[in-house]
Amino acid sequence: MKFITGYTLSQLKEEFTRLGLEKFRASQVLRWVYKKFVTDFSLMTDLSKEHREFLSESFSFHPLERVDKVEAPDAVKYLFKTHDGHIVETVLIKERDHLTLCVSSQIGCAVGCTFCATALDGLKRNLSTEEIVDQFLQVQKDIDSKIRNVVFMGMGEPLANYDNVRKAVEIMVSPWGLDLSKRRVTISTSGLVAQLRRMSKDPLMSELNLAVSLNSPDPKKRLEIMPLTKTNTLEELMEVLKTYPLPRYRRITLEYVLIKGVNDSDRDARELVKLIGRHRKRFKVNLIPFNPDPNLPFERPSLERVLKFQKILWDAGISTFVRFSKGADVFGACGQLRSRRLMLKSQPDEKYLKVVN
Ligand code: SAH
Ligand code: SF4
Repeated sequence: MKFITGYTLSQLKEEFTRLGLEKFRASQVLRWVYKKFVTDFSLMTDLSKEHREFLSESFSFHPLERVDKVEAPDAVKYLFKTHDGHIVETVLIKERDHLTLCVSSQIGCAVGCTFCATALDGLKRNLSTEEIVDQFLQVQKDIDSKIRNVVFMGMGEPLANYDNVRKAVEIMVSPWGLDLSKRRVTISTSGLVAQLRRMSKDPLMSELNLAVSLNSPDPKKRLEIMPLTKTNTLEELMEVLKTYPLPRYRRITLEYVLIKGVNDSDRDARELVKLIGRHRKRFKVNLIPFNPDPNLPFERPSLERVLKFQKILWDAGISTFVRFSKGADVFGACGQLRSRRLMLKSQPDEKYLKVVN
């Protein structure tokens, strides 16, 4: 089956032409999908009956099937099933004045960070463009307010699935598509150096928000918790980031998962200050206290430790924020989603959990 959500406007025009339809029909259909969130040809009233019938025989919209929805006070988790039986997780995060959607880019992940639940199963496969776009569409259709922010912080390493992620981003930020602001789409990466170089030269991708999971300023320690450091050295990574083209006032976010006794000491904080060096206006730091998981051998540091770590960075003039992952108490953070789901199934906590459907 072909999915409308896998096409850019120009690709859909080409496809329609091939099928003997006028090009402008492609704009018509995409307007229904991305402006009105209508994903049923029979409701597209500006198409003739023949066209509607022909199109519904040739195309569908939703490659994913929604199988569950779990609500927490500040977030909602959606679970989708793919055609080949995998589960994809998407989290809608309620910020004070806006909504952010945390999308997955792969099923599992090959990067193998030791503190991340997604790594436990290894990589099953990349998500297709339509599977990424459909996460947005299905959640947007389910709620009244408009989603304006997207973060690629769900399952997977987005830069390891560059082409499909890129096309999904194009659909998200184009005026004929979801028309999100490029500044409101964030790619979070573990730091694949070659892909970051590619991104820096790509007019579409380089304008997005960039977040890089640093997690340790020490090459040896980083190698222990993020094995990709072996082939993507910290030195090379910092070199790319220090020369990455940044529009005025835009900064790169360095994400730092604070793990008790691993990377949360005063010394780690001081080394991080050194690593950033004179480039402190180019970066901001997000400290994410580790979200415990029964399958992972780590703990979250005390709040006192987190704040002390933050203070050392602040005192050195580095903008540093503490981010507790939304919904984490209920179903695990965006970024460490999968295995928590399995736990939830067996031990639902009535106090927090409301299972809809
Ligand atoms: N693969 C990409 C994006 C998905 S992970 C990346 O690594 O950046 C998104 C974020 O979740 C990363 O910053 C990662 O470090 C963080 N994360 C993973 N496991 C976590 C955990 N157990 N607790 C808190 N944050 C975690
Ligand atoms: Fe993959 Fe990101 Fe998890 Fe590392 S933190 S294993 S890169 S999803």
